[in-house]
Amino acid sequence: METDLPTKYNPKDIEDKWYSFWEEGNFFHCEPDPAKKPYTIVIPPPNVTGVLHMGHALNNILQDILIRWRRMQGYNTLWMPGTDHAGIATQNVVERKLVKKGTNRHELGREKFIEEVWKWKKEYGSEILKQLRKLGSSCDWERERFTMDEGLSKAVKEAFVKFYEKGFIYKGKYIVNWCPRCLTAISDDEVEHEDHEGHLWHIRYPLRDAPHLFVTIATTRPETMLGDVAVAVNPEDERYKDMIGEMLVLPVVGREIPIIADEAVDLEFGTGAVKVTPAHDPNDFEIGKRHNLDHVVIMNNDGTIRGDAENYIGMDRYECREALVEELKEEKNIVKVQPHSHSVGHCYRCRTVIEPYLSEQWFVKMKPLAEAAIEAQKSGNVTFHPERWTKVYLSWLENVRDWCISRQIWWGHRIPAWQCESCDEINIAREAPDKCSKCGHDTLIEETDVLDTWFSSALWPFSTMGWPEETEELKYYYPTSTLVTDRGIIYFWVARMVMMGLEIRNEVPFSNVYVHGTILDDLGRKMSKSLGNGIDPLLMIDQYGADAVRTSIIMLTVEGQDVKLNENRFEMGRNFINKVWNAARFAMMNLESDESSDVQITDSDYCFEDVWIISRLNSVTETCTNSLEKYRFNEAIRALYEFIWNDFCDWYLEIIKPRLYNTDEKESRVVAQKVLVYVLNNTLHLLHPFAPFMTEEIWQHLKSMVAQNRAIAVDSMKNKSLMICQWPEIDSAEIDKKVMDTMPLLQDLIRAVRNIRSNMNIPNKTPLKAIISVHDSEVKTRLDSRHGFIVQMANLDGVEIGVELEKPESSASEVVNEIQIFVPLKGLIDKDAEKEKQKEHLNKTNSHLEIVQKKLFNENFVKNAPAHIVNAERDREAELLGQIVKIKDILQDLEKDD
Ligand SMILES: [Zn+2]
Ligand SMILES: [Zn+2]
Repeated sequence: METDLPTKYNPKDIEDKWYSFWEEGNFFHCEPDPAKKPYTIVIPPPNVTGVLHMGHALNNILQDILIRWRRMQGYNTLWMPGTDHAGIATQNVVERKLVKKGTNRHELGREKFIEEVWKWKKEYGSEILKQLRKLGSSCDWERERFTMDEGLSKAVKEAFVKFYEKGFIYKGKYIVNWCPRCLTAISDDEVEHEDHEGHLWHIRYPLRDAPHLFVTIATTRPETMLGDVAVAVNPEDERYKDMIGEMLVLPVVGREIPIIADEAVDLEFGTGAVKVTPAHDPNDFEIGKRHNLDHVVIMNNDGTIRGDAENYIGMDRYECREALVEELKEEKNIVKVQPHSHSVGHCYRCRTVIEPYLSEQWFVKMKPLAEAAIEAQKSGNVTFHPERWTKVYLSWLENVRDWCISRQIWWGHRIPAWQCESCDEINIAREAPDKCSKCGHDTLIEETDVLDTWFSSALWPFSTMGWPEETEELKYYYPTSTLVTDRGIIYFWVARMVMMGLEIRNEVPFSNVYVHGTILDDLGRKMSKSLGNGIDPLLMIDQYGADAVRTSIIMLTVEGQDVKLNENRFEMGRNFINKVWNAARFAMMNLESDESSDVQITDSDYCFEDVWIISRLNSVTETCTNSLEKYRFNEAIRALYEFIWNDFCDWYLEIIKPRLYNTDEKESRVVAQKVLVYVLNNTLHLLHPFAPFMTEEIWQHLKSMVAQNRAIAVDSMKNKSLMICQWPEIDSAEIDKKVMDTMPLLQDLIRAVRNIRSNMNIPNKTPLKAIISVHDSEVKTRLDSRHGFIVQMANLDGVEIGVELEKPESSASEVVNEIQIFVPLKGLIDKDAEKEKQKEHLNKTNSHLEIVQKKLFNENFVKNAPAHIVNAERDREAELLGQIVKIKDILQDLEKDD
């Protein structure tokens, strides 16, 4: 039969076509429907500045698989898409653009700058969502949200006011992590720590009343001594006990500072005496609070020096460090300088070294919120997959510190606070108040800080559904079902969503969290711009097709583990997709009706292989469904791969070929066609979430062919699209245990005969006889009933099956499960010539092995060549070694009986 399915699968011809078809058919869109069960995923909103990388690809492929699968299972599925305004990141991008134009944000002013950012957002901000479509993502695009859109901004304000009223938000002067480049505070989690080879400077401070005596302190940041207000020692420290209360004179500055006793001082560190700089160190800040010390601020927000030390005013912090150390050396106040490795915090956005900085900031009190989030996990309301991530989540929550939510940037949600000029009262309100709530004065100054981006993304699961309005969506789709996320944002985002969800909605925002691995390069390094080792998913889609990219990634992703990827790995997916395509093409070319619609079929027309493939299909359906339930994507695709490649293509299609070609035996032929369509159709269903484009293309062709042949019609093929078809049900009754047990044995026997044929170089057209010797008669009966099958598939012209048969003279043998298979060779081959051939083969293989081993002995090669090349050589070595063993076995067989 003619099929209009092209000979070669070309993804470019069909991907855009089907994506538009799905969108136009409105298949991604959903509306609340009480008759159905909801299944909801909110997308981890990518930054508007984002460009699709492999991490996004993995994250979204997984979500799309879940959504497509649940949709087919009959759930009312919502996949909520959108983007994050990404405060600092986006501001940086637009600032860089302004610099290129020869201006900057300060010249522009706040309002104009924000306009510029919006302009930028309109032009480039949806780029990443367009790229997600290329992957096949079936998001409900009608519902696309943005963390700064009107509705979400309203939600942010509402949440802030609510939290403030409940006492969860406060404003205060604290030491925060300050980026002197971005000129903003950032949260603890946004600081990236890195070990740094620095120094420990030992500096002596003379006693005021006995200048020949000193206390020596050790510091890694000597410039901060300009802000010292005390030196602290442990009250138990014998070395300093008598000095407590004495005054020291701060070198260079000349300020008199006391020696104080504080239990927090570590006797073991440095000299046991520590300088106290409350304005520039978080621990010193706490000591300062306990001892009521002043805050001497010596640094501006850009990291330059200010204050009393005139020589240093205006210097950059590191310039000051150098100059100050010089001066201390000249004064002979540096006792020693030790190399010292310590952890240094960097801004996660611009890599600038963070400065602990005293400033007025807004905070969220985390303890009470964290307790609820811990409880939610412990009582089973939130489950992590794989389970090990629970620990990461809990340990962060158990040790959480208050969250600094204010940022001194312009792009973001402005904190809804207005300070009274007259009485300093802070007025918190949803809308700008016209007078002070306390004194009635009408001059109010609006807060200039904006909120941390994570404050708005923490509301994402319900703000996207219309909260604070009680919308139908919110009632129906919240709490959501599954969150699919990278492990890097478990506390940035996942934990905070749980806290916010519980506090604001009294319900966890999602019941399951699937944490996937990170995509690494071949050498196990993270992919990054600076290393230039990234793989562009769009380029890969262009080269291999979206389905090949999707299936390859899922085949490589073992539950939650990191994935090592190189471009060649996509060939695996492409080969698989092509295999399915070719099988489908073969099937469709053999479906002509031949007026077979009037053929009467009974159960007995179903052959052994039909029952077997239907059993296997049901068992693979079971594996696939159960694996997806457990978020074992890899197990599901592996099961499908094996089923399609081995069972369906290599066995079933081969077995039924004679039946399809033989138009005389109508019943058998129609049954084969029926089973073929049934299995192919169901397989396309199972494969659809993984490879949506290719399966839709084949399914649509199959649908139109089946429509022309009533005998093989399938009820479920009436839908407009495969994506809205029903997920195959598991029918245990269809799994014939006996057939399932017998088939692998037959396959082994047939493979054994094929092995002998190929080892002995016997051409396919030469007929063979086989003798199968078993131990017990039960097995004999079982095999006897499949006599014809063995003959056909092993390409024999006769088989003898018996209990404890003798090995015929001059025959090759194989053993399978204690069953012996003999193939008499007499007259089939020229033994001497064959022996020569095998010996020659052995020599060639040996010399090949030598070359490979030479390479592997070369240390330079092993050290310097890319990992996949070295691994390929290792695989080759193992393969050659195996071949050598095999050839030796064959030679032994040939030597025997001589
Ligand atoms: Zn920065
Ligand atoms: Zn007032």
